[in-house]
This record gives sequence, structure tokens and C-alpha cells, in this order.
Amino acid sequence: MRIGIVGGGQLGRMLALAAAPLGLSVRVLGTDPDDPALLVARGSVGRYDDVAALRALAREVDVLTYEFENIPARALAAAIDGTGAVLHPPLVALEVGSDRLREKSTFEALGIPTAPFRDVPDAEALARAVAELGLPLVLKTRRLGYDGKGQKVLRAPADVPGAFEALLGVPCIVERFVPFRREVSLVAARSSAGEVVFHPLVENEHRGGILFRTRVLPEGPRTDEAERHVRALLDHFGHVGVLALEMFDTDAGLVANELAPRVHNSGHWSQDGCATSQFEQHLRAIAGLPLGRTFVRGAAAMVNCVGALPDLAALSALPDVHVHVYGKAPRPGRKVGHVNVIAPDEAALDARLAEVEALVRWA
Ligand code: AMP
Repeated sequence: MRIGIVGGGQLGRMLALAAAPLGLSVRVLGTDPDDPALLVARGSVGRYDDVAALRALAREVDVLTYEFENIPARALAAAIDGTGAVLHPPLVALEVGSDRLREKSTFEALGIPTAPFRDVPDAEALARAVAELGLPLVLKTRRLGYDGKGQKVLRAPADVPGAFEALLGVPCIVERFVPFRREVSLVAARSSAGEVVFHPLVENEHRGGILFRTRVLPEGPRTDEAERHVRALLDHFGHVGVLALEMFDTDAGLVANELAPRVHNSGHWSQDGCATSQFEQHLRAIAGLPLGRTFVRGAAAMVNCVGALPDLAALSALPDVHVHVYGKAPRPGRKVGHVNVIAPDEAALDARLAEVEALVRWA
């Protein structure tokens, strides 16, 4: 079977690498010949809003998938039309996942708790929302936000004037600031037969808005709650493939923040710590194969490498530590790799993580 991946980043690269043992042939559409995925798989270079480039890829494959959500849905639909290629996950998941207003409205419609929010098409709407919701609030661009970019916390009345303009006057939403205990996420997959398999719930720690560390949580009451929310989304979309949901863990329960209709940074630990990695799981789902099991091999975590390449020799000297680099030139704030850490139990994981984090530079 031939799989087309729209997106040449590290997620596309790790999907392509996971496709090889399954005998799936991969074609990638990237935007630069040096894109991480194009360094390991065949493909072409084009723009993600170029219908002709997308169509050329669709013509070459049986299944088309995407590794990031900021692809114009209309271009993708037009590109696929009449080619015979099937798009997984479905267009609706891409549309909802790339627009915070639709995302939050979908959470609400499905009864998934989320922070109270308002549509903010202009500065006047922001002033009205502040009056209705009170402060503190978080103002976010509807589209193209990632790693904490395109957002602004409004704590005091003085923060409100000029805030909408500071985000360049693009359509926004504003939502109530959620006092959370911790941030968690759940990665799950749905097959074309409607089978759903969950990876374990994980805790995510950010630094400067960028994911620093993910750690697998032991099963608890929050697991059931998170699985209920994710299953509702998967079934609502008629999803085929992996989906990730980021949530705030609060005293009142889980509060959904953001969904990604794709493999996710908080699932990278599964490459080494889980019976089936999220990349293999996504490929199984979109290729019409049965899903794999997702039990954890002991205790597991992942540390991101941002802005500086990891010390491969020093990290490789540690037992059960696995380095994954993306082939990207280091730049401040840029994710260039990650380190997966596996241990027999939580205490051993703490000790190993301390060693790993001492070796991971962050710039
Ligand atoms: P996002 O781009 O929506 O994932 O937001 C990036 C980060 O900002 C999150 O991981 C949280 O740490 C923080 N954040 C976003 N929305 C809220 C909120 N409503 N309340 C508190 N913190 C938030």
C-alpha cells in the first residue's frame, strides 16, 4: 500500500521510518528539500496550499495523511477529488483541529468540559468578552498558534487595550484562564472498523510554552475521564488514525484545551516504552490493519531537545535511554530531537531522568 504524507517535519519523518517495517511505501510532500521527512523518504517539494502539488501526491498513493493541521482543508479536498486516494484522518478533524473556535465549540457540543470562551473577531468583541467572563483570560489566535505562540494572558484591565492588535488583528478567541494542577494528554487511535485503542495518559511539562518533558502516568480515575472525552471526539469525527487531546487537570476534573488530529509530541515516548508506537498505530489505522496493543514497558518518559543537539555519546552510554534526532539545524526554540527514557519503576525513572536532563541543553 502507498501512503502519502502531507508535511515534511519530524512527525512525517517518524511516520516514514515506522512505515518501512510494515512494507508501506511512503511519499512525502515537504516545503524544503532538507525537511526532516525528505531526508529519509521519497517525495517532492511544494506548498501545502498548492492544489496541484497536493494533487500530484494524491495521484501517487492509496491513502493520504497529514502530519500537521495547518493545511487549507479546501485545497486538500479539491486535490483529492477524483484521484481515488482516501484521506485519513477525515477532513472534518483537520478543519476542527486547525481552528480554535471550532475546536472549543466541538468540545462544548460533545459535553467535553472546556474553559468558557468567546469568539473575538475584533477589539470590541474582546472588550465585551472581558466584561462577560472577567479576568484573567487567555487571548489566542484562532489559527496557526503552536508552542504558546499567538497568545496573550490578560491578567489586569490594563492588559486589555491593544491586546487584540498585538496579535496582529487576526480573528481570535478568548477563554478563561484555568488554574490547573498539571497538564495531561491522551493519544488514541481509531481504525476504519471503529475500533478504538488508547495510549496511556501522560503528564506534560512545558518551558517557555514548549513541551519539555512527558511522563507516563499510572492508571487512575483521570484515565477513564480522558478516554471518555477522546472516544467522543474520535466517534464524532468518524476518525481513522491517531488523535491527541491536551487537557488541564483541575480540582473539578479534566478541562480540554486543544486537540491534534495526528501523532503528537507527547506520544513520542511510545517509540521505545510501549508495545506499539503512536507512529505504527497511526499507520495501522490508516492502512486498514488491526490496531496494536499499548501496554507500557515499565515506567517511561520523554525529554525534548530544543535549540541544541543532544550529546549522543553521553546519552547513549546510559542504559535504556534512546536518542531520536530529526536532522534539523539547531536554532533557539526549535525542536531538534528527543530522548526517550525507560526504567523498571518510577523511582528508577526519576533517577535516570535526572541524569538525562543534566545532559540535555535547552536553547
Ligand atoms: P495552547 O497553545 O492552547 O496549547 O497553549 C499553550 C500553553 O499555554 C498551555 O500548554 C498552557 O500551559 C497555557 N494555557 C493555554 N490556555 C490556557 C488557559 N485557558 N488557562 C491556563 N493556561 C493556559
